[in-house]
Amino acid sequence: MRLPIIAGNWKMNNTILKSTLLIDEIKKSSLNKDVEAVVCVPFTNLSDVKKAIEGTDIKLGAQNMHWEDNGAYTGEISPLMLKEIGIDYCIIGHSERRQYFNETDETVNKKIKTALKYDIKPIVCVGETLEERENERQEEVVKEQVLKALEDIDNKNIKDIVIAYEPIWAIGTGKTASSDDANQMCGFIRGIIGDKYGKEAKDNIRIQYGGSVKPNTIKELMEKEDIDGALVGGASLVAEDFVKLVNY
Ligand code: PEP
Repeated sequence: MRLPIIAGNWKMNNTILKSTLLIDEIKKSSLNKDVEAVVCVPFTNLSDVKKAIEGTDIKLGAQNMHWEDNGAYTGEISPLMLKEIGIDYCIIGHSERRQYFNETDETVNKKIKTALKYDIKPIVCVGETLEERENERQEEVVKEQVLKALEDIDNKNIKDIVIAYEPIWAIGTGKTASSDDANQMCGFIRGIIGDKYGKEAKDNIRIQYGGSVKPNTIKELMEKEDIDGALVGGASLVAEDFVKLVNY
């Protein structure tokens, strides 16, 4: 049985004050205990959000990290710093980081290995561009991203990795993949994991869909066999919507 996981990606939104107000608003509702709820917040807000979620089942995530423990990497944040705050998850390889900050499959792979070393669960993002989908290259592209992300990663670690299938054309655009297309790609990714790591890993790995998921689309997505959750940007910034997503 795979535990569903709904993760909010706040991106570069919310000051510390706004973050804590948002968490306070979320805390007014009860959240489904059979769903793992995660908020992935800006670095500067992690400590305050950690305090704000104390006593709840909400998990904390970062949106990026460096692969080295420390060193001359001006402006970067190390896994040790994040570990000290007590994060549970870290988004790795989000398409916005690949697109605007030169994140590559190689850096994604290094970051996943470091996250696992520190017991931080990586939410690894993969997904094709519109052009790649129009040329029917989505499987080829996603397969390469998944295999490169997981290069030299042990079978024993697979249960701690979440993969988020996020077609780039659906992120922040209001266009969402149909639940059938999303399920087909999540199933395809599950197949890749099965081929590389065997049946147990295939059955246990959690795969999310991400791309303009809203309260009115979550239920249909979650009913699909291979979709175990969602990575949600815009809708996770509204307390009522985040609660509805978790309580789909
Ligand atoms: C995301 O940030 O990963 C995302 C899917 O954003 P949105 O839900 O706004 O499309």
